[in-house]
Amino acid sequence: GVNKKALHLEIYKKAARFYYYSLQLKENEQALEYFHKRGITSDVIKHFGLGYAPAKYNILYQNMKREGYEDEDLLETGLFLKSKKNGMLFDRFSDRVMFPIFNLNKKVIAFGGRILGEGQPKYLNSPESLLFDKSRTLYGLHIARNEKHPYYILVEGYMDVIAMHVAGFTQTVASLGTAFTDGHAKLLKRYTQQVVILYDNDGAGKKAALRAIPILRSNGINVKVLQLTDAKDPDEFLKKHGADEMKKLLDEAESHIWFRIKEIESTYHLELPDEKVKFLQEVAKLIGSLESSIEQSIYSEEISQKYQINQDALQAEVKKYYQSEA
Ligand code: ATP
Ligand code: MN
Ligand code: MN
Ligand code: MN
Repeated sequence: GVNKKALHLEIYKKAARFYYYSLQLKENEQALEYFHKRGITSDVIKHFGLGYAPAKYNILYQNMKREGYEDEDLLETGLFLKSKKNGMLFDRFSDRVMFPIFNLNKKVIAFGGRILGEGQPKYLNSPESLLFDKSRTLYGLHIARNEKHPYYILVEGYMDVIAMHVAGFTQTVASLGTAFTDGHAKLLKRYTQQVVILYDNDGAGKKAALRAIPILRSNGINVKVLQLTDAKDPDEFLKKHGADEMKKLLDEAESHIWFRIKEIESTYHLELPDEKVKFLQEVAKLIGSLESSIEQSIYSEEISQKYQINQDALQAEVKKYYQSEA
């Protein structure tokens, strides 16, 4: 009910304050050092409400008990786990730097926690709860939505969102470890018509981009894709090359169609006629799935030039697939 939600929001707010405060303590200077080493200044820490969950078994729990909260309520927030041995609650997050996740009203509804060095799992996220619906939450959206932007940028991680915002790209959001969902797309559609996907420069990032494209498209969002070279993710790219280079690449981001064609191409040997036929059939299917015949015609022309194939032949193949979903 409404009261329970309000109670959970209150608990999350107190937890966020506790983690933020803990990050400032001398005894936890290694956590602050971790952030500083990654280029996160005190201003950025404040802006994103970053914190530290101390390496103590139940320090947050003890704080909450002192404030008079009931075990049952505390457990429901997802901030605590129950010991199988003695039934006592203890903190879910321990010895991790903490990233509060905000709802659209700028209230904390969950956390992500990163281990300070190497180790598994690298990130630990709050479980879903009364407050936190993963498939409807985008990290960074509480800031991005404050201003109008010609397009939004979709990245993978907390550090990517933060680095992008610091570099001036405050329209950057992330879906955080969960796959991009229809709920995310519907949420974005409220704020923008166009999204640039800027995922990590690895197999997982590519795969995730290929999955996100049709979800965004089916919600009427234009999609471009920017594939980084020379850096594994946006955070790293910005450290190496800076905001101006990033801006240049964003301006040149390619249509989702070319990204997908290149992906298809990489699975064929085009110098073999049989394979070239199959490749072009697959491309025709992709073009046929486009809703706009103007788009179809533009891409058909470009493809026929690039791959040396008669445009009428390609168009005939495209027609076969027109309006079939891809
Ligand atoms: P960093 O730069 O801190 O090493 P990253 O964001 O580059 O982290 P990735 O491995 O690229 O890390 O993961 C992207 C995002 O996916 C993370 O920011 C986090 O939200 C989520 N994630 C990563 N690992 C896990 C995990 N083990 N469990 C849940 N979510 C995870
Ligand atoms: Mn990744
Ligand atoms: Mn990273
Ligand atoms: Mn990454």
